[in-house]
Amino acid sequence: MPTNRHEHIHLLGAGLVGSLLGIYLAKKNYPVSIYERRPDFRKAGYAGGRSINLALSDRGLAGLAGVGLAEKVRQIGIAMYGRTMHDTKGNLAYQPYGVGEQCIYAVSRGKLNEFLLDEVEKYPNVKLHFDQRCTEVDLPTATFTLQHTQTQQQQHLKAEVLFGSDGAFSGLRSAIQKTDRCNYSQQYLAHGYKELTIPAKNGQHQLEKHTLHIWPRGGFMLIALPNLDGSFTCTLFFPFEGNPSFASLQTEQDVIHFFETYFADVIPLLPNFVEEFFTNPTSSLVTIRTQPWVFGSNVALIGDAAHAIVPFYGQGMNAGFEDCRILNQIIEQEQGNWATILPQYQTARQPNADAIAELALLNFVEMRDLVGKPEFLLRKKIEAKLHNLFPQQWIPLYTMVTFSAETPYSEALRIGKLQDQIMTRIMQQPNLTENWEQLDFEQIVRELESKK
Ligand SMILES: Cc1cc2nc3c(=O)[nH]c(=O)nc-3n(C[C@H](O)[C@H](O)[C@H](O)COP(=O)(O)OP(=O)(O)OC[C@H]3O[C@@H](n4cnc5c(N)ncnc54)[C@H](O)[C@@H]3O)c2cc1C
Repeated sequence: MPTNRHEHIHLLGAGLVGSLLGIYLAKKNYPVSIYERRPDFRKAGYAGGRSINLALSDRGLAGLAGVGLAEKVRQIGIAMYGRTMHDTKGNLAYQPYGVGEQCIYAVSRGKLNEFLLDEVEKYPNVKLHFDQRCTEVDLPTATFTLQHTQTQQQQHLKAEVLFGSDGAFSGLRSAIQKTDRCNYSQQYLAHGYKELTIPAKNGQHQLEKHTLHIWPRGGFMLIALPNLDGSFTCTLFFPFEGNPSFASLQTEQDVIHFFETYFADVIPLLPNFVEEFFTNPTSSLVTIRTQPWVFGSNVALIGDAAHAIVPFYGQGMNAGFEDCRILNQIIEQEQGNWATILPQYQTARQPNADAIAELALLNFVEMRDLVGKPEFLLRKKIEAKLHNLFPQQWIPLYTMVTFSAETPYSEALRIGKLQDQIMTRIMQQPNLTENWEQLDFEQIVRELESKK
């Protein structure tokens, strides 16, 4: 039933997704209270514990555009038009992500979160509460307990509508997990990650800044994304165990030898890599799937709390911002009736979260192993030509995922699998490097169309 009443909405977590969701709801005139366990990081300084910078692409921008903020966020990002692969000899190969001006943006996680908090705070109907950790939720009554992280003082609140935007280790999700017929899986990679810094030189970037740099090395890789201050944040994705691995690099000499062997061209740019290697944390990478996302008519999960994925498609935040945009559409369609909004939200989003989780895992193999190989670059060239000749019929998977807010992730995955079957066969043709331009591109597209 349509409702004119504006329920008081409580959000747990003021990370990237919680802050954006708060803005969407505030714009619809809902009273919103947001509880965040960290101190106000605009004053205390941002200590995220996750990646320092992130790639923002069309889905994330569409989520921001829905509340009029896309252009402002673009201003605090650095456009990256493609990826630059570095081989062990220091040779570079460049591969554009899309065509023309298509790009993804490197943004600082801390800056973006602070910006969204500033924006959400502009609404008089929003109240932000920091140092408030949610410790318990009683789902049937939507009652939750908050504990002040400094004073330990507790309070119990009852929500009319409650969202868990409290990230990959969501407390609200833990409560849902304990209910009947909740399916849950948590899958860690055998790889972890560690961040290292390429500082600015005289305020300038030391590598080309409008590209994402990758040092693909088969079982592991290093990547670098630019920051506005002229530095790059590098991330080493590396196995926890085995040889080489985080476990096998025990001494300074081990680390130096490892970098000299695999990343020699970057050593002159990383003045403190040995120290950083031992002092910066080694973090793990997890895919979390859970179902349901919704309890009753008034409790739901959003963002990483509902779907934490590995970062290899650069889509976790983008997917969370897309959750907010689609939820907003459903609120409008259902005229504020939460009993129908939340089930529809879950139906609309869950298959797409599952799809991007799968795509992100597949892309790890592509990034760490395939991107450096000549046959991969040839395949990308053929696909680019197909896209160029038949822009509506052959859209490369990366383009569907990254440069489209309209194609659902699940549809991108489905079509991507069909394209993969076709391209795998084509790549087996003899002398393709010399003859690829003679391929019957029209026939290839016809085959894809017939399989769709
Ligand atoms: C190495 C790495 C690289 C990544 N790169 C990209 C990328 O390039 N592009 C991209 O789109 N995504 C990327 N991601 C994913 C992205 O970081 C997440 O998808 C995004 O942060 C999810 O936002 P969120 O608001 O749902 O969760 P979070 O950002 O985790 O925010 C959750 C908030 O809830 C708070 N909280 C937690 N528990 C409680 C509690 N009990 N009570 C109150 N508050 C609580 C936390 O303090 C936090 O502020 C990357 C992730 C990693 C790990």
